[in-house]
Amino acid sequence: MHDVINPATEQVVATVPSTDVEGTDRAIARAHEALAAWQAVAPGDRATLLRRFSDVVRDHVEELALLEVANSGHTIGNARWEANNVANVLAYYAGAPERLFGRQIPVPGGIDVTFKEPVGVVGIIVPWNFPMPIAGWGFAPALAAGCTVVLKPAELTPLTAIRIGELALDAGIPEGVFTVVPGKGSVVGQRFVENPQVRKIVFTGSTAVGERIMAGAAPQMKRITLELGGKSANVIFADADLEKAAATAPYGVFDNAGQDCCARSRILVQRSVFDRFMELFEPAVKGVAVGDPALESTEMGPLISRDQYDTVASFVPDDADVAFRGDCPTGPGFWFPPTVLAPVSPDATAFREEIFGPVVVVTPFEDEADAVRLANDSDYGLSGSIWTRDIGRALRVSRGIESGNLSVNSHSSVRYWTPFGGFKRSGLGRELGPDALDAFTETKNVFISTED
Ligand code: NAP
Ligand code: MG
Repeated sequence: MHDVINPATEQVVATVPSTDVEGTDRAIARAHEALAAWQAVAPGDRATLLRRFSDVVRDHVEELALLEVANSGHTIGNARWEANNVANVLAYYAGAPERLFGRQIPVPGGIDVTFKEPVGVVGIIVPWNFPMPIAGWGFAPALAAGCTVVLKPAELTPLTAIRIGELALDAGIPEGVFTVVPGKGSVVGQRFVENPQVRKIVFTGSTAVGERIMAGAAPQMKRITLELGGKSANVIFADADLEKAAATAPYGVFDNAGQDCCARSRILVQRSVFDRFMELFEPAVKGVAVGDPALESTEMGPLISRDQYDTVASFVPDDADVAFRGDCPTGPGFWFPPTVLAPVSPDATAFREEIFGPVVVVTPFEDEADAVRLANDSDYGLSGSIWTRDIGRALRVSRGIESGNLSVNSHSSVRYWTPFGGFKRSGLGRELGPDALDAFTETKNVFISTED
């Protein structure tokens, strides 16, 4: 059993069983048994079941959101968006079963067709930072492709996933097709990697564990999708709308208390406007409303755990170059104030490592080439923003930055109908968007002779 803690109060909100290796194998075996029947469901009927699953989640958005506020300290506004995101992603991929097209390729002496065959049982390993959306980005396209799913939520944040597993059954998704398996990464997650009945792993989390998953999957040639860390740049040129860039920059990094793999945690500012940017940025940072996540007006809640607090705090030692900080509550809860370090050199730890908390570094650059060089001076390549009024520059810099998801004059969040994923050590493969089912299918080519 494992106590689930409310990070805003440090109170126990629930106690959840920790599945052991045998229990994990039983869940995988049930998912394996359920495969044939799930694949035999006619495409239109599978679509109907997924639409019904979406509708049931939609009917429970408020309940799920309140559960996430209590379990994860997410602001109520964010938590509602996250629960709705699960319903939206299910609705989007409910359109996929009848559109799982192969191709017909011209060949002599017959016809050649391709099929997209479901890969089999999919194991999804979810981190604690966005428990609902990250689960849905995996299970919705997997189920649409005809795969069955076992899903391990993070030990810290299992409550919404467990509830969504119940809602799937309420919606008529057959027993064994989608099973939530709470427990430890080193037990349940590890077993997903080892058990040969799991044919594909979708992992989101740290780059260190992602490496282990990739190595562990190799002997079985198990398919993997990895969504790992980030250290994304928010690049602000002198010709940008500086007021807007400064007003929005806090939300590009401090949303979800900075516990976001897409956090724009390195702000790169052209030197000629550096001081002006910092003048505008300070009131914006101090204006972030940090507090009780259940209040509608709150913009940032606590960190997820005491451990995460200690990790984040280690990036802000007493002699750190703190330019300014926002406020946060005192007393119980894992509260960390929005913190700006500046100017920070590119060789500093705070510039290089993913902090995963509300700490941002600001670094000056000289010109366009320098901006691209600094943005790419990272092992990661997940996200990023570019602020300029020059459309040619916006495109050149977008093409120059080695990153999977960029936004110009915005800090756009992930859209479920566009592809999402990372370059370099930010991961492998893409989720979401029109091609997501490719990650859950194998292409099969069949030639049929027309000769007598
Ligand atoms: P993590 O250890 O990578 O955990 C992510 C998920 O993997 C959790 O469900 C975890 O289970 C599971 N896991 C852990 N060890 C495993 C193993 N050996 N085999 C299979 N699954 C395993 O991440 P974390 O410890 O929660 O966070 C550490 C850092 O990772 C953060 O500070 C941040 O830098 C980064 N991170 C990135 C993202 C992202 O979205 N890219 C998300 C979260 C964290 P347990 O819950 O039992 O640990
Ligand atoms: Mg961990």
